[in-house]
Amino acid sequence: MSDVDGRVFMDCLCGAGTLALGHNHPVTVEAIRKHLDEGYPLHSLDLTSPVKHRYVEELLSTLPAPFASKARIQFCSPSGADAVEAAIKLVKTATGRSGIIAFQGGYHGQTHGALALMGNLGPKVPGLMPDVQFHPYPYAYRCPMGNQQCKDCNCGQFSRSALSDPEGGVALPAGMIFEAVQGEGGVIPAPKRWLQEMRNISGEKGIALILDEVQTGWGRTGTMYAFEESGILPDVIVLSKAIGGGLPLAVIVYREDLDVWKPGAHAGTFRGNQLAMATGLATLQYIREHDILGNVQAMSSRFMGQLLALQRRHHFIGDVRGKGLMLGMEIVDPECSDEMGRPRASGALARNLQAACFSEGLMVELGGRHGAVMRLLPPLNVAACQVDAICAVIARACQMVAGTEERSGAKPAPVYERADFASLAALAETCSGVVEPPALVG
Ligand code: PMP
Repeated sequence: MSDVDGRVFMDCLCGAGTLALGHNHPVTVEAIRKHLDEGYPLHSLDLTSPVKHRYVEELLSTLPAPFASKARIQFCSPSGADAVEAAIKLVKTATGRSGIIAFQGGYHGQTHGALALMGNLGPKVPGLMPDVQFHPYPYAYRCPMGNQQCKDCNCGQFSRSALSDPEGGVALPAGMIFEAVQGEGGVIPAPKRWLQEMRNISGEKGIALILDEVQTGWGRTGTMYAFEESGILPDVIVLSKAIGGGLPLAVIVYREDLDVWKPGAHAGTFRGNQLAMATGLATLQYIREHDILGNVQAMSSRFMGQLLALQRRHHFIGDVRGKGLMLGMEIVDPECSDEMGRPRASGALARNLQAACFSEGLMVELGGRHGAVMRLLPPLNVAACQVDAICAVIARACQMVAGTEERSGAKPAPVYERADFASLAALAETCSGVVEPPALVG
């Protein structure tokens, strides 16, 4: 990206993970042109069009066959939060129950219902959707069950006992919702075993399992969906971000036997965003034809190797973790501990690091508890030389902030010299087009 002064930035935020192929990728731009040139409608509510027909077919083909063969799709107002609202209403209608189990650190959007499911207390307003219970989400570095560097996750046992105990204080809920890799909560991948345990518990108790794949869907974690590796099948999948190829689109895909709500039970005017279906289709085709999942896995290892090397050099990098190209570095004050005896998260130092990266031409996001996790969400087609350039900037930024660690209260972010934007522009030039765009078909 470049700003009004012509400074070039590498973007490791990518519209909060929306731009799977980066900004203005030729295949998405071409898909928009083609859609307009061919005179297709921009918006058609629920009417089927050739683009929508193909979109539904292709979307279903990305999902495990046993799930897809018995699935229904609801197009929602085009935001992840609205699709989460739809999922909640669907499972409440289908089960006749009112409760929802959410998980500590979870993020599902900021509408009134979705906000009630959020772990972070900061954005909450009084009187949100009632009947939400929070269970612990496995977070090995800061185990909610109090284990030091948890190796044998027993968060699932907590959920099982809470939901089985006749004196547990929680009535059987309609559904449980979680991310297989928490994003905003601090880039926390759940262990396979925990995902399987949640599937077993919810299946045994007749609780609908809602997988929020808004941030992870379509390759972000190195598989099409983050739940895939665990082999589980959810009851409802919530999708948005990448599935619109950079334009707004959100859907839920769910088991047909949950489909007992009435037509119009979740109507949102902009559910028929045809242009987003066209760009979504072009993105999906590109992901498939260019082995983008393979690229995500290879670039993930390349990132990990370099970030772990940085962690060995800088004691304020407490943890490096993630899956695929959803990566995070948790910044801590190693001299201080929190109430549980773990290294204290340092949001102030993370902000300094983020500012140093920005001054060096790299855009990164912060997330997690106290905003102490520096998050990387690069495009899924990022090239090896770009990964190295990104890591080189992070290494320089770490060098800059080393020694400014928070000791007694936050210090202001240091002022850095301007980056060599000319060489970043040259790098962007050299690395662009590493993966050739395909000819568009259909
Ligand atoms: N779920 C998850 C996992 C998300 O990451 C987000 C957005 N960051 C949402 C839901 C909400 O999506 P939106 O901002 O489009 O409402």
